[in-house]
Amino acid sequence: MDLKDYVRDIKDFPSDGIVFKDVTPLLGNPIALKFAAEALLALVENQKIDKVVGMESRGFFFASMLASELKAGFVPVRKSGKLPYKTMSEAFSLEYGTDTLEIHIDGIKEGEKVLVHDDVLATGGTAAAVCKLVERLGGEIVQCNFLIELDFLKGSEKLKNYSVKSLLHY
Ligand code: IMP
Repeated sequence: MDLKDYVRDIKDFPSDGIVFKDVTPLLGNPIALKFAAEALLALVENQKIDKVVGMESRGFFFASMLASELKAGFVPVRKSGKLPYKTMSEAFSLEYGTDTLEIHIDGIKEGEKVLVHDDVLATGGTAAAVCKLVERLGGEIVQCNFLIELDFLKGSEKLKNYSVKSLLHY
């Protein structure tokens, strides 16, 4: 099965000049959804994982499925002000300005083995900030995995200290 058949390009979303990879056709197709979840799981290669950290919001879908399959917990990372309990924050640069991500301070315990997941690796700023949060809480990053990697944006260079695996490359 070619999962790329279920990813569509949306021109000028969310702003002019951006070609957005829309994964909702993949999520909406029962066969593609199961195939993608199993393929992402296979990237982890039976390594022991205590927590899967998913990035708001499209990272949540597969991160929670992966957590369930890996018998691990799921931990959300969200934009600032969205998580209800005490948080740790990490600011990171965007093309224009900065953004802040947060994680609950009790989301990861010292020494826990962590899989970081998001739907798309673009410039890598988001994933690098998530990795910093995990490490500041004492977690050990086993792998960063993505449904889609936009190779031309070289996001993996920002994650060069980690094992980075992606299902689909563009
Ligand atoms: P980065 O920080 O530039 O790597 O951007 C990655 C973040 O932006 C991820 O959380 C993605 O969900 C989102 N993102 C960037 N480009 C796309 C896209 O083409 N489709 C869907 N999400 C995207």
